Amino acid sequence: MTDRPPSLMPAAATTRLAIDLGALAANWRQMAARSGRARCGAAVKADGYGTGMIPVAGRLEREGCRDFFVADANEGAALRRALPEARIHVLNGAFDGAMALLVAHDLIPVLNSMHQVALWRSAGAGRACALHVDTGMNRLGVTPAEAAGLAADPSFRPVLVMSHFACADTPAHPLNAAQIAAFAAARAHFPQAEASLANSAGIHLGADALFDLTRPGIALYGGESVNDTPNPMAVVATLKTRVLVLREARAGDSVSYGATARLGRDSRIAVCGIGYADGFHRSGSGSGVPLRGTGLPGAHGIIAGERVPVLGRVTMDLTMFDVTDLAPGAVEPGSWIELFGPAIALDDAARAAGTIGYELLTAMGRRSAREYRD
Ligand SMILES: *Cc1c(COP(=O)(O)O)cnc(C)c1O
Repeated sequence: MTDRPPSLMPAAATTRLAIDLGALAANWRQMAARSGRARCGAAVKADGYGTGMIPVAGRLEREGCRDFFVADANEGAALRRALPEARIHVLNGAFDGAMALLVAHDLIPVLNSMHQVALWRSAGAGRACALHVDTGMNRLGVTPAEAAGLAADPSFRPVLVMSHFACADTPAHPLNAAQIAAFAAARAHFPQAEASLANSAGIHLGADALFDLTRPGIALYGGESVNDTPNPMAVVATLKTRVLVLREARAGDSVSYGATARLGRDSRIAVCGIGYADGFHRSGSGSGVPLRGTGLPGAHGIIAGERVPVLGRVTMDLTMFDVTDLAPGAVEPGSWIELFGPAIALDDAARAAGTIGYELLTAMGRRSAREYRD
């Protein structure tokens, strides 16, 4: 099964992103259990973190999820067509160009500034809205003082009051307790509204962070949310690339742009159909990019249980892997090399490119064939 238009022929794609919807559902159940008495929602913004918003949200709804969070009204409208009954919150809120979609698709804007509040009150015709109170991110949300002012006006009645953690991935960070206290005070002004603070990492902070509704994202997709602890989530996304060409090269030859990789031995090179245009970041190159100046090795793949390092620079559509150490016949044209999944943790692949699982996952998918299993 694929969610792509017929113009993308899965068999012709040279990268494959396999999504395990059963693992996604298990991860949601785990986050729901950790949410205690709070309802567990789901962040499905950015096309379900690159895994496909519609199949992901549909599967989560079957699991019992009712509250979804998207970034903008276009995502919300697309989700509404698939899920007529769900509560869909639009995190970026209300602005002129978004009003028509918000209203037509019964989306709940998360109002993020006094400007957005005023706009929705004048043009939202009394429809449901949520209020974001900033408690330490300085990103979205009214200030706690502005929230207190709004609470004094009985005609303003958000259905949900929320805030967002800045440092929940670092449980001992003092900002966590400060944000919980500031949010508890802000939500007390709106006793009729539900309250929501915790993202994936926030759910791990314990009962004080849970309130009425949680909003996990990355954990549902199998990514790490808390630093320096084993990741308890099941693997959801597996990225593989196909070997297009196998070539032999001699000791002393160079590989890829800039000739930054110089072979120390006669080598076999697997040329694979993935590059930075597919979201496989150039910073994961085996050499010749600024990050490699830090001394970290580049990304690697796994084939037949063996680790195969990226050789030289990742290019737009192609990446070279050193398969010299593989048994003869273990790799052939058409073989698939795993880049993250069961054999390589998403977050380890991300670290090799100097980034985080969130960025690697959301970058996937312009050309890859997505395949779903359950
Ligand atoms: C993206 C997002 C989430 C989900 O965060 P994760 O770290 O992926 O769990 C929750 N709340 C808000 C406001 C977000 O922007």
